[in-house]
Amino acid sequence: MYKNILVPIALGHTSKTAAALDVAKTLLDEGGKVTALSVIEAVPSYIRSYLPEGQEEKSYRDVREALEKELAGTESVIPVVVTGHPGREILDYAQKHQVDCIVIASHRPGMQDYFLGSTAAWVVRHTPCAVHVVR
Ligand code: ADP
Repeated sequence: MYKNILVPIALGHTSKTAAALDVAKTLLDEGGKVTALSVIEAVPSYIRSYLPEGQEEKSYRDVREALEKELAGTESVIPVVVTGHPGREILDYAQKHQVDCIVIASHRPGMQDYFLGSTAAWVVRHTPCAVHVVR
């Protein structure tokens, strides 16, 4: 059904990640691609100056490694890590890379009382492409 699917992944939402990747695989056309995107929340500039040197690079490496671990066993999912506001970065990536569907979990595990978490709600509200929400 789709050629270029984006699956935003919040590390620590492991049970939801597996479900979202399964849905992406089902919706993907033959020859299409799936990208897994994790966004590191940007540290405000007034705090950045207090961080030890190299801390941001270390965080990037740690997140990249954790994402690759979460994706272990899933064939041909491309891992991408960026820094910024999660909702905005997901939208930005989708627009820049002509993503035709975003598969996103509805909220963090254990928060079933909420219909949509904050990032999921942002993506559903603002994205111009199709969005599949995994409950
Ligand atoms: P909650 O507000 O309950 O934490 P969220 O809307 O933040 O719920 O999380 C729902 C889904 O949004 C996650 O499972 C993931 O797909 C996506 N998401 C949230 N934060 C990030 C992030 N930093 N990077 C990538 N995806 C994210």
